[in-house]
Amino acid sequence: MYDYLIIGSGLFGATFAYFAHQKGKRCLVIEARKHCGGNLYCEKIEGINVHKYGAHIFHTNSQRVWKFVNSLVEFNRYTNSPMANYQGELYNLPFNMNTFHQMWGVKTPEEAMQRLNEQRKEALLHMQEMGVDTPRNLEEQALLLIGKDIYEKLIKSYTEKQWGRKCTDLPAFIIRRLPVRLVYDNNYFNDAYQGIPKGGYNQLINQLLKDVEVRTETNYFEHRQALDGLAKTKVFTGKIDEYFDYRLGYLQYRTVKFEEEHLPKSNYQGCAVVNYTDRTVPYTRIIEHKHFEFGTQPVTYVTKEYPKDWKIGEEAYYPVNDVKNLDLYTKYVKKAETISNVIFGGRLGEYKYYDMDKVIASALSLVEKELA
Ligand code: UDP
Repeated sequence: MYDYLIIGSGLFGATFAYFAHQKGKRCLVIEARKHCGGNLYCEKIEGINVHKYGAHIFHTNSQRVWKFVNSLVEFNRYTNSPMANYQGELYNLPFNMNTFHQMWGVKTPEEAMQRLNEQRKEALLHMQEMGVDTPRNLEEQALLLIGKDIYEKLIKSYTEKQWGRKCTDLPAFIIRRLPVRLVYDNNYFNDAYQGIPKGGYNQLINQLLKDVEVRTETNYFEHRQALDGLAKTKVFTGKIDEYFDYRLGYLQYRTVKFEEEHLPKSNYQGCAVVNYTDRTVPYTRIIEHKHFEFGTQPVTYVTKEYPKDWKIGEEAYYPVNDVKNLDLYTKYVKKAETISNVIFGGRLGEYKYYDMDKVIASALSLVEKELA
């Protein structure tokens, strides 16, 4: 008999397993895929760690989380500085003095501020005319934050491709993830700490699961009864609606189709991430994996990302954070509260647009509560 059956070997499950094992708990981790690590998993091809389930860049403001991951693996100094390509025009991201210079030709923060304020004022007036004082959706929020020029060229179509919904039907908080700065600084994140594990993410997962019993290619739903009998408590990191056989209805997710390509050249796009913010390009971004680790190989691997609505049988990547889905999720949470021996965690278990550090922080707070 195990103390914990941990369903899913992604960052949440692996972090919980690490601490539970340290506390002397007997843990079994099961994983449906052939490999551990969830969407962090990388495949090393010709010396390049290819992020098989989308690019992952670790960044955090939490000293505790940063210390913890660094106790397991060393991180490199990668700083995410993506470019945006709009109809062949290149812009720096996030929105900073470089972007403002490229967009408007302005050179000083005062000039940029003046442009921004003009456009922000216009957005505010428009909202006031409609009797609204706080942004009701992503479009209103973006217009207030950054104005219409940047919204139209760098946000609107990218966001609509990413989420498959109109910006007016998406929550405002999604766009608040992006910094707006009046300095020439292309660091995509404001967080104090950032990097990629030296040697790739698999090292991190391998360290977390080093002494833990793991069964790969074991699908919980195919062996549910037998597996349930193996442990006192379950930590479930899959889709919460699937756990309950979708009985209250289907939560919506976005999935991503990845088109991976080997190119016989050493450097394709000069940085790891280029976003295609124009509607006519069907993919949202191209990832060139070697740049995450400053690769010097004579070849390169790039991946185009095509987001689309998730269907049964596909991998779920992003929860859709609109009101309808959050209402349904709340109903599932109520249902979860009626059973005592199952803990739900992670991006899918908690139906949250979590970054990796938040997943670890959430697992750490579970550890404190559960293993105190
Ligand atoms: N976003 C955008 N243009 C960009 C990059 C991001 O409009 O070039 C918006 C988009 O709405 C996206 C959100 O910002 O969903 C968050 O972007 P982030 O890069 O954090 O998304 P992730 O890497 O998690 O897919």
